[in-house]
Amino acid sequence: MSRKKAVKLKIVDHRHCLTCGKAIPPDKEFCSEECRKKYERARMREERVKKILWIMYAVMIGSLLIVIVLRTMIH
Ligand SMILES: [Zn+2]
Repeated sequence: MSRKKAVKLKIVDHRHCLTCGKAIPPDKEFCSEECRKKYERARMREERVKKILWIMYAVMIGSLLIVIVLRTMIH
């Protein structure tokens, strides 16, 4: 019974390529070097967009704070 379970687990135990979704061995993340590169590129682009959003957010909060401080100084 336990043996049967182990066999079943072995069949289920696989991953999918993070780029194209192809079934791959569990110790791998991508089916090919090209898929890895594609994923890395997409991730780097995402990180850059996230960074820019954070900077915009910081600038917005910063200018808001400056406006508030200036207002309280004027009054
Ligand atoms: Zn792939």
